[in-house]
Amino acid sequence: MNGDSLAYTGHGKRQLKEIFMWKMPTGEKVPRGGGFLLEPTGTHTIFTPESFWSEALEMGKMAERFAADEVVAHEEHLETLPEGGMVSVLKKAGELGLFMADIPEEYGGLDLGFAMSMLIGEKTSLNADFAVSFSAHVGIGTLPIVFYGTEAQRAAYLPDCASGERIGAYALSEPGSGSDALGARTKAVLNAEGTHYIFNGTKQWITNAAWADFFVVFAKVDGTQFTGFIIDRDTPGFTTGPEENKLGLKGSSTRPLIFEDAPVPVEAVLGEVGRGHKIAFNILNVGRFKLGCTCIGAAKRVFRDAMGYASERKQFNTPVIQFGALQEKVARMATRIYTMESLCYRIAGYMETQDSELDKGAPDYREQRLQVIEEYAIESSIAKVFCSEGLHEIADESLQMYGGYGFVKDYPAEKAYRDCRVNRIFEGTNEINRILIPTTLLKRWQGGGFPAMDQILQEGVQPSPSPEGPIGPEVNAANEMKKAAILMLAHAGKTYGAQLRDQQMLLLMLADVLIDAYAADSVVLRALQEDGGAEAEACTRIFVAEAMDRTLSTARRMLCSMEGDSGDLDSKLKGLLTPLNTNIIAEKKRLGTAVTAAGRYTLSPH
Ligand SMILES: Cc1cc2nc3c(=O)[nH]c(=O)nc-3n(C[C@H](O)[C@H](O)[C@H](O)COP(=O)(O)OP(=O)(O)OC[C@H]3O[C@@H](n4cnc5c(N)ncnc54)[C@H](O)[C@@H]3O)c2cc1C
Repeated sequence: MNGDSLAYTGHGKRQLKEIFMWKMPTGEKVPRGGGFLLEPTGTHTIFTPESFWSEALEMGKMAERFAADEVVAHEEHLETLPEGGMVSVLKKAGELGLFMADIPEEYGGLDLGFAMSMLIGEKTSLNADFAVSFSAHVGIGTLPIVFYGTEAQRAAYLPDCASGERIGAYALSEPGSGSDALGARTKAVLNAEGTHYIFNGTKQWITNAAWADFFVVFAKVDGTQFTGFIIDRDTPGFTTGPEENKLGLKGSSTRPLIFEDAPVPVEAVLGEVGRGHKIAFNILNVGRFKLGCTCIGAAKRVFRDAMGYASERKQFNTPVIQFGALQEKVARMATRIYTMESLCYRIAGYMETQDSELDKGAPDYREQRLQVIEEYAIESSIAKVFCSEGLHEIADESLQMYGGYGFVKDYPAEKAYRDCRVNRIFEGTNEINRILIPTTLLKRWQGGGFPAMDQILQEGVQPSPSPEGPIGPEVNAANEMKKAAILMLAHAGKTYGAQLRDQQMLLLMLADVLIDAYAADSVVLRALQEDGGAEAEACTRIFVAEAMDRTLSTARRMLCSMEGDSGDLDSKLKGLLTPLNTNIIAEKKRLGTAVTAAGRYTLSPH
């Protein structure tokens, strides 16, 4: 990091890099993407929030202090666009080094790895306006150049991206094409001299549009070849439209980009002509797991604010937080945050371990790194869906804890409720991400990627006795849910073949089963690995018991709804999936009491 912040952490660049890389213990094999279904729960080490070392936590605290002092303290003012001052806050973040985590050292960055980048993302997300502006710059704005830029493009843009001298944006969506991004109509035609592409068209919903210095824009060369470009703000024929009047994120800029015969130099092509889809989709994969962390940061703040209010507010001479009805919310919200953390940071550990094994000097190093990210596309989609919906539930229940005061602008719950809604829409809607989860898994399986799944089907699945230990039944339940997910996936694939893509309602159910299986597995692994005490065990018991009930119910509904003969699958699933005898009230009371006493979420070290 630069001057001040380096002095703050007391480390040089080289040391920081060595400190911040995480690897699974020697001898343990990194599961491939989707491979969580096959790993018996408890047999391998995962990255958890407890894996962060003291220097990382220190840096996380610095990012959080910045968000509290420079962003949250001025958030009302930030909502008045463009006078609100978001640009100067972004510049300050740049000065502090907060944009450097993903940029290679030779271009002025720190290349700190996935886990640190996620931690900084979480800590800077106390205010959603800043979080989305920050992510659009460091993530979807800068990363396409990190991964696909030529030497000249990287040298021209990345040092300024790292320092905040230049702010970036990403323009994929158009008025007529959102989810169907490849249906873009913006056209780029090479001029007669072969020096410039002439751009015509409109991009829609572009974050940072009011102040970005450059835009990664996707257009079709000659109307057919989908291609990425880096376009500077001062390009003639390029303008931005008016700000959208949004439900939330009022301090962030969202505008259309308009190109009218705009000449863009041929040197601005990002990657290869006709290969823009690779850039667009790979960068979205990164955006998805990072959005998970943004949601965690936002959720912790909303939760803390609501607990503070509910501890002060008295009804019937009692602080309202003491009522069982609110204690149930406190316990449920803490459980959700614990699960969000467990499944998000786990992804960073896999990616970082694989990343550390790559040869940085190899000519195709960047391509290999992208493959690592793509490998965990399933888990990234799960993180996006689970965390965006988790934050939504937490914002909603937090607002409820304020009663009528939650419904007015004088208290922060109103803003948090509005701001969080969009997380279910951008970075691929949750419908699109849900559909991707089972279809990507099946594609990999059918392509020969999971021979162990075929073996499981041949050998049959048997319920196994619970292992010893305080969360033995939960270990067993996580294993059962994963096996059940494999059975259901196989049955759906066999019944519908290639037509499964047209069975979207079924795919949504399969996605929910897979999400719960991955989430249950992640909380159990974390609770087994880390000494989180009675509260972590309570979170694990609550989440797994409820996830098991949902899986049982969804499995049953699926089987009743599918065409054809399901053979003995119904009885197999009944034999496999055993509801847990968890005393959910006792667990929620225990957790609620502990979290209320702390006044905030304290189940992770940061
Ligand atoms: C505040 C904000 C900031 C944004 N920032 C950016 C940005 O910086 N850059 C950028 O490029 N874009 C940005 N977006 C755009 C965002 O990515 C899109 O809104 C999103 O991809 C959805 O596209 P759409 O709005 O056209 O909805 P549509 O694609 O029209 O979807 C409408 C509904 O249909 C569903 N649907 C669509 N297709 C399918 C399908 N095949 N199967 C099942 N369901 C389907 C969707 O899930 C959704 O519920 C932003 C949007 C907002 C609101």
